[in-house]
Amino acid sequence: MQKRKVMMENEGKRPSQGRNPLRRVAVLATGGTIAGAAESGTQAGYTSGKMGIDAMIDAVPGIRALADVHGEQIANVGSQDMSFAIMIRLAQRINELFAADAADGIVVTHGTDTMEETAHFLNLTVKSRRPVVMTGAMRPYTAISADGPLNLYNAVSVAADPAADRRGVMVVMNDRIHGAHSLTKTNTTSVETFLSPVNGLIGTVFYGNVAYFRRPFRKHTYQSEFSVDGLTQLPRVDILHACADMPADLIECSVERGAKGIVIAGHGNGNMNAATIDTAARMAAQGIVIVRSSHVATGTVSRNIELDDDRLGFIAADELNPAKARILLMLALVKKRSLANLQDLFYTY
Ligand code: ASP
Repeated sequence: MQKRKVMMENEGKRPSQGRNPLRRVAVLATGGTIAGAAESGTQAGYTSGKMGIDAMIDAVPGIRALADVHGEQIANVGSQDMSFAIMIRLAQRINELFAADAADGIVVTHGTDTMEETAHFLNLTVKSRRPVVMTGAMRPYTAISADGPLNLYNAVSVAADPAADRRGVMVVMNDRIHGAHSLTKTNTTSVETFLSPVNGLIGTVFYGNVAYFRRPFRKHTYQSEFSVDGLTQLPRVDILHACADMPADLIECSVERGAKGIVIAGHGNGNMNAATIDTAARMAAQGIVIVRSSHVATGTVSRNIELDDDRLGFIAADELNPAKARILLMLALVKKRSLANLQDLFYTY
C-alpha cells in the first residue's frame, strides 16, 4: 500500500511581523473551565461554563488594545458534553464569519477535556486561510492564579497577528502555540497539560509576543477536502481500548449498534490480542472500517509492522491518537471510499 508522506515546510524561529490593533477578532465561546466559577478562589470543585463571554472579555486587562474584539456565545457546556451538533454549528459559524469578511481572526474558548477533538474537527472543516485559535483554562475564572485571562489575552494576540494566517487551527495555552493535529492533553489538573509530543510546537506567545517555529506538516483548513456545508450528522465510529485479554465481542456489539468504523486504541504500535484481530478482520471483510491507533502517549502507528494490514484489511492511524483518528474517519465516511483512499487520508491529514 501507500508510503507515508513526509510534508515538511519548516521555517526558523522568527518574531511575528507585529499586529495591527484594528484587526477584528471574534471570540466564540463554548464553555469549559475558562468560563467556570467556584464559591471561593481556593475551591477545587467548580461548575464549568458559568460565565458569559462578554464578562470574560471584560475581565482581561488590555485585551481591547490588541484587537477589535467582539464576543459571541455558541454554547456554554463543560467540554465533556461537547457534541458533534455543537462542533458542526461552530464550524459553520466560523466559515460564515470569514466568508462575510466579518473577522480577521477567530478565538474559540473551550473546555480542555475535548479541546483536541474540536480543534482537529475544525482543522478539517474550516475553509479559510485566516487564523482560528482555541483556548481554555485549567483553573476556573474565580481561582487564585486563574490561567484563563492570560490564555485569552495570548489567544487574541495570535488571532490578531497577520503572520498567523495559513497555520491551520491552533491551541494557545500556557504560553505555547500547538497545532490541532499534534496536541494532546497529558495532565488532569496542571496548567501545563497540553503537549505536542510527535511534532512539536507551532510557536510560543509570551504576554502577547508571538514567535513561530513551523507551519503544520499536514493538510488543514483551506486545503482540506472535508466540509460541514449541509452536514447535520456523522456516521457512528466507536473507539475500543485494548487491554489484557480484551473481549473481542465488543467489536460485534459496536457493529450491531450501527458503527460503520471502529478505532482500536491499541497497545504499542496499534496491537491487539489474537481474538480481537480475528473478529476485526471478519468485520473488515464485511465493510466495517477498522483503524489501528494507540493508547500510548506518543509515537506513530505504522502499517504492516507486527500485523499484516494488507491481508487483514486494516488502516493504520499514523500520527493520530484514537480520538482524532475517530473524527477523521467520521468525516471520511460521509461518502463511500476505498481502503486505499482511507489509508491515504491518514497520511495526508
Ligand atoms: N471539564 C472541563 C471541560 O473540559 C475541564 C477544563 O475545561 O479544563 O470543560
